[in-house]
Amino acid sequence: MASVPPQRPERILRDSARWFSEGAALKRAARRDRRCVACSEALESRRTPYCSRLCQWRFQAGYFWDAARTYAIHRDRFTCRACARRFRVGQLEVDHIVEIARGGAPLDPANLQTLCRGCHRSKTRAFLRGRARRGGGAAPRSEGPGTFDLADWFPA
Ligand SMILES: [Zn+2]
Ligand SMILES: [Zn+2]
Repeated sequence: MASVPPQRPERILRDSARWFSEGAALKRAARRDRRCVACSEALESRRTPYCSRLCQWRFQAGYFWDAARTYAIHRDRFTCRACARRFRVGQLEVDHIVEIARGGAPLDPANLQTLCRGCHRSKTRAFLRGRARRGGGAAPRSEGPGTFDLADWFPA
């Protein structure tokens, strides 16, 4: 079964640790200025640093995989970005556009896309085929992120 590439635990720990220093400081500043910490929209009170649930997920997405996943699915409106069909949340998976193995950012919403299970499986197969074509080894570093089969997924 195709699924989201497993996050390397040490990366999750490292990114989540930022939440308690960097994230807390940003939220403090946002409350002080009565601005949404994600979109900077003015807020009525200092009760919360978020203007909406979506902004809350968006902000937390930079620190926690669960929030990143939830944010990506809502941002993409429950629609698979490959086949453009809507699905129930249980049928959707969140994919790293540039695989973590190839240096893609694990928690950057810009590197996340919502795919249905079928499309995610095809993408994973294409990825594995590409690796086999290149000799099956680890991705060559010199290629840099973003060069893998992106044309297949975002045809010009
Ligand atoms: Zn906001
Ligand atoms: Zn699909």
